[in-house]
Amino acid sequence: MATPAPAARQALNDANARWPSRKKASDGILGDKSHQARKSDHNEGNAVDITHDPTSGATGDVIARHALKDQRVTYVIWNKRINSRDGRGWRPYAGSNPHTQHCHISIRVSARNDTRRWGWRTGAVRPTTRMPTRNLKRGSSGAEVKQLQTALVKLRHMTQAQMNTGAGNFGPQTEQSLKKFQASHGVPATGFYGPLTRAAFTKLGM
Ligand SMILES: [Zn+2]
Repeated sequence: MATPAPAARQALNDANARWPSRKKASDGILGDKSHQARKSDHNEGNAVDITHDPTSGATGDVIARHALKDQRVTYVIWNKRINSRDGRGWRPYAGSNPHTQHCHISIRVSARNDTRRWGWRTGAVRPTTRMPTRNLKRGSSGAEVKQLQTALVKLRHMTQAQMNTGAGNFGPQTEQSLKKFQASHGVPATGFYGPLTRAAFTKLGM
């Protein structure tokens, strides 16, 4: 009978420590029935799924970024992409589970007992998306509007197709998507991008 790798347990403990109120609906270490039907590192307890929860800041982006720096990791699957830490970067992942609800991390067998703290607990969560520093509202345009739209797409308040139709232009769709973001992150849903909203993005590691 497989047992959860101590390194995988540590990964979840560290996520709980970093984001105490995070959702855990898609967490898991040992494979369920659907995993057992196929080859999966979960079956050996050498993989961990960490729930993507933008509300608490525990985003798949942040977790994946830290995991990819960790020598214990063989590969990461997140948001329809896989990264095998072999220099090829992210590639499309075509498995049946798109991994949009959690970040999957596979752990080297030889590292399964390595319980050093994981990067999401110890490391600074460095922004990947540069958030605009000036205020933006409907009618604004330019590179900074595009930055905002990119962040909205990453957090799935806007689709890539919606962004493509008005990239760099702050129109009704961007306003509506921004309001959705604001409403779900404790910011008054004004559709205005200012310091409060920027802080909410920054808190998510954007
Ligand atoms: Zn998994």
